[in-house]
Amino acid sequence: MRALPSHACATLQVEINQGLSFAADAAEDSLLRAALRAGIGFPHECSVGGCGACRFDLIDGDVEDLWPQAPGLSERDRKRGKRLACQSRLLGDAKVRVRCDDSYRPVIAPRRQVFQLTGRRMLTHDMAELTVETEHPVAFLPGQYALLYLEGVHGPRAYSMSHVADGSGRVQFIVRRTPDGAGSGLLVDRLALGERIEIDGPYGHAYLREQVGRPIVCIAGGSGLAPMLSIARRAAASMSAPVDFFFGARGVDDLCAADLLQELPGYGQKLRLHNVVSTATEGSWQGATGWVHDEVDRVIGERAGDYEFYFAGPPPMIESLQELLMLRRQVSHEQIHFDRFV
Ligand SMILES: Cc1cc2nc3c(=O)[nH]c(=O)nc-3n(C[C@H](O)[C@H](O)[C@H](O)COP(=O)(O)OP(=O)(O)OC[C@H]3O[C@@H](n4cnc5c(N)ncnc54)[C@H](O)[C@@H]3O)c2cc1C
Repeated sequence: MRALPSHACATLQVEINQGLSFAADAAEDSLLRAALRAGIGFPHECSVGGCGACRFDLIDGDVEDLWPQAPGLSERDRKRGKRLACQSRLLGDAKVRVRCDDSYRPVIAPRRQVFQLTGRRMLTHDMAELTVETEHPVAFLPGQYALLYLEGVHGPRAYSMSHVADGSGRVQFIVRRTPDGAGSGLLVDRLALGERIEIDGPYGHAYLREQVGRPIVCIAGGSGLAPMLSIARRAAASMSAPVDFFFGARGVDDLCAADLLQELPGYGQKLRLHNVVSTATEGSWQGATGWVHDEVDRVIGERAGDYEFYFAGPPPMIESLQELLMLRRQVSHEQIHFDRFV
């Protein structure tokens, strides 16, 4: 195997067990992103080391492990020599074993560009809508996400686009500040307008299937609002399918979906919002309380098989919805699309 000489900006050759091979730009930050940019259906989900979907075996060659403690690999995986493609940087030609699948091929080839932060408005006490702009038109499908490379923050952070691509270079995200969060804290509180951000995308398979005529259910947990908003915005503007939009928030202070959805065509009729609060204090909230998946089941129930489901949010919400829809309600996996915010 050819190792990469220190001065080279070479093209590397990656062989995959299924007889597939591709040329990778040595400047790529990870095997996963090199493969996706080459149009290979390399399995993946979060792209940031959290989920383990891009596990592979290195048969030959050398890679640098960008995040040796990444939670996407268990101790057992590590002992068996497994690696994460999203955390492996190629150091030369390589031969890898992984089961590729066309469903993972990017519908829009991801591109890395420099943007400028041009707008920030607080939606709640801890959630901000950010606007960034670049000179080239940006393409993505409603529901997809991008990777943001932030100065002083180790590793990229995934954030979903919250608007609809309009042929311009403008992109919007909704970011929730997490306790001690390096990336979200910078984006919500400190990054000054005019600052540059390198953004790579689009990624993700939980995008709106516009050709499917079924009624739509969007379920957002916390900052999972961003991709669901993008889907609802597109569906409201150009599809006849009705949308039931469930927003699960912790407290009444976190409810902000109505402000964002009410300007859309059909709000209150074709587009129905169901707010669910998990920690309401007595008397402060007259609406639904509890877990958002229970409310989905209460409203949709036995009719679940008639719908196309999209959801995004924290892992426990994703697991509860998978159990509800796939096991209890027997909804076909082709009707279920989600992103786990690991
Ligand atoms: C597909 C997807 C879409 C998402 N969309 C949104 C969204 O629209 N809005 C939103 O608010 N949040 C979103 N998230 C969550 C978001 O990416 C961050 O995890 C969250 O903002 C916390 O990041 P932080 O930097 O503030 O916290 P931190 O605690 O500093 O970092 C948390 C995350 O950073 C990564 N990380 C940490 N250390 C390292 C390291 N050494 N090397 C590499 N990576 C590291 C890990 O992925 C970890 O989960 C999404 C997540 C995923 C997977």
